[in-house]
Amino acid sequence: MGKVIALSNQKGGVGKTTTTVNLAASLAIAEKRVLLIDFDPQGNASSALGVDRNAMKDRPTVYHALIGQAPLSQVIVPTEMECLFVAPSDGDLAGAEIELVSAFAREAKLKAAVAEIKDQYDFILIDCPPSLGLLTVNALNAADSFLVPLQCEYFALEGLSQLLHTVSLIRQSLNPKLEEEGILLTMFDGRNNLANEVVKEVRTHFSNQVFETVIPRNVRLSECSSFGKPVLLYDIDSKGCLAYLNLAKEVLARNQPKTQAQPGLSAAPVLPPPAQSASVSVAADPR
Ligand code: ATP
Ligand code: MG
Repeated sequence: MGKVIALSNQKGGVGKTTTTVNLAASLAIAEKRVLLIDFDPQGNASSALGVDRNAMKDRPTVYHALIGQAPLSQVIVPTEMECLFVAPSDGDLAGAEIELVSAFAREAKLKAAVAEIKDQYDFILIDCPPSLGLLTVNALNAADSFLVPLQCEYFALEGLSQLLHTVSLIRQSLNPKLEEEGILLTMFDGRNNLANEVVKEVRTHFSNQVFETVIPRNVRLSECSSFGKPVLLYDIDSKGCLAYLNLAKEVLARNQPKTQAQPGLSAAPVLPPPAQSASVSVAADPR
């Protein structure tokens, strides 16, 4: 069965989509079969993986799967990477929040859609919108775990308690097995004292819930999406690419089957050694 991870933070622009796309690609290069579900009406993850908006016009999207007009399997399209697939979205998805208001089991629509394809993937990553509305509730209900990208800036922790409160409500009422995948510090600039303070504070408060890997601010990460490519296919030597490969390594290590020996990491020979100091010491240069 695939592991479903929802990437969520109701704060906008914190690196959810960048993380979903590049973690998905980094897991796919380690020969994991990965599906990215674009669950944001902005459709940024779809564009970042090269989905042509015009070609999508006559195809079903995640919206159609959510309202029961098409199975999710018909929505999924391949990407440039062999093991990476995407279920694209567009602005229609915004309508689903309203259309589903009176629907029976409206919080479980995505979960039902995912159930049909879950066993075909090793990982299913859901890119959530910047809100805690019905779409995010659907994502957290469909997920086995949630990952919170947190931008290294002054108000980073603002809103996190609201997200964790939503998670606890979802655990109580809908999805008691929802686990924490971890908190990921993003857009770190080592030259900025404040960023260093934020890293310290988050590590103090959340200790081992925080990934060792810290994603640096790196211009290649913002450039690659306008080319419709994950950074792996755009600049494999960039610091941003290295950081997401390290994140994938951590995610793989956290998700090793407990009963087996640990052969999984050898399936990821491209992954460099743990990022720890690299991640904290890197300055935001272009590569
Ligand atoms: P939204 O809430 O609107 O969905 P988001 O949380 O998904 O936003 P992203 O779209 O991933 O955030 O990132 C916001 C902007 O910051 C984008 O322009 C992206 O290219 C850029 N960005 C993200 N991560 C980095 C990084 N590590 N270094 C430099 N730029 C980054
Ligand atoms: Mg986004």
